[in-house]
Amino acid sequence: MKCPFCGQEMTLGYIQCRDGLFWTPKKQLVAALSCFGKNRIRLANSASNSFNTACAFHCDACRKVVIDYGVEYP
Ligand SMILES: [Zn+2]
Repeated sequence: MKCPFCGQEMTLGYIQCRDGLFWTPKKQLVAALSCFGKNRIRLANSASNSFNTACAFHCDACRKVVIDYGVEYP
């Protein structure tokens, strides 16, 4: 994936959290309870066979990480 900010090739890697990976519109009082947040979005890739791992692209130059949660990566 090309970095949407600088156009350089990004490095594919992983973001992992013991309690699952979710985006929520509001900060949860206890991060581990994000799986119950209203309007939450599950970020983990189903191909990873785990609810707590998301494939993510990193740009070292911009210090940005992009999680493309709608796409499966090997
Ligand atoms: Zn970049």
